[in-house]
Amino acid sequence: MTASSLVIVGSVAFDDLELPTGTFENVVGGAATYSALAASMLHPARVVGVVGHDYDEATLQQLAARGVDVSGIERAPGKTFRWRGRYSADLNSRVTLDTQLNVFADFRPKLPVGFRSATHLLLGNIHPALQLSVLEQLEGRPFVAADTMNFWIQGELSALQKLLKKVDLLIVNDEEARELSGIHNLPKAARAIAKMGPTRIIIKRGEFGALLFDEIGMFFVPAYPLEEVIDPTGAGDSFAGGLMGYLARVRSNEGMALRKALFYAAAAGSFCVEGVGPRRLFETTAAELRQRIASFVSLVDYGHSLDLS
Ligand code: AMP
Repeated sequence: MTASSLVIVGSVAFDDLELPTGTFENVVGGAATYSALAASMLHPARVVGVVGHDYDEATLQQLAARGVDVSGIERAPGKTFRWRGRYSADLNSRVTLDTQLNVFADFRPKLPVGFRSATHLLLGNIHPALQLSVLEQLEGRPFVAADTMNFWIQGELSALQKLLKKVDLLIVNDEEARELSGIHNLPKAARAIAKMGPTRIIIKRGEFGALLFDEIGMFFVPAYPLEEVIDPTGAGDSFAGGLMGYLARVRSNEGMALRKALFYAAAAGSFCVEGVGPRRLFETTAAELRQRIASFVSLVDYGHSLDLS
């Protein structure tokens, strides 16, 4: 059996984060950064993205030291994508104060030759036409997971519908699932989305956990109840990265693997929110990951053992 290869496409950014605990500027961020750091706790991740002249080599090296292959991150003339957000005091909502696309405006993802035979592909939330262009560069037929957002559901529905026909797993939040399907009830919304293409749908519900709908049925994973949440930025991307990292590690996409993967997804999301930006993901050890998975098991343990290895 050849080894798995996980490719992640998405934004690489500098974020300015206005949190209840203070304002933090020039924080390394971007959806691909969070996903790749989370995935690489389980399996090496290859990133396709773009940065500007202001993104320093040392940060790329820090990512590489965590098992992220940064050779698909191109450096373009101009500044790196920048996002500024402000969170409410309870961290449950946020507003975007500023988005500067900079080099991201002309981003046309290009898979390096060695990335084209990926077995697992995570398409971060970018224009659906660009997500489609990545699929066209593939040599094989990987397991494809995609993220999207209201902006594309409202403005680029036909490109998104074309993409969905080629996606195995769609990862969205509850609002996005409702908007895409036009249905409020989540199981019904998932059924309607499955008819658009993806046979597996994960609906994220923030601190209320996440639901998987697939051919086997419905499955639920809780969010780990943490005593202290510092910064929710990137939690959804970390969730997707943890999920795909586990699937790449076990090289399986079948229903039970996906159910186990959901715990790794939730664990990755829980580490992400424990620090400002991706700080905690940069530091998480294999032992901490094992410990967090064990904590999840005890959260739902009623005397029968769960094997999440
Ligand atoms: P999340 O909290 O999971 O929504 O992810 C936040 C990350 O997404 C931040 O690091 C931002 O840099 C990045 N981001 C914000 N807006 C966009 C956008 N329009 N396109 C791509 N990435 C974005």
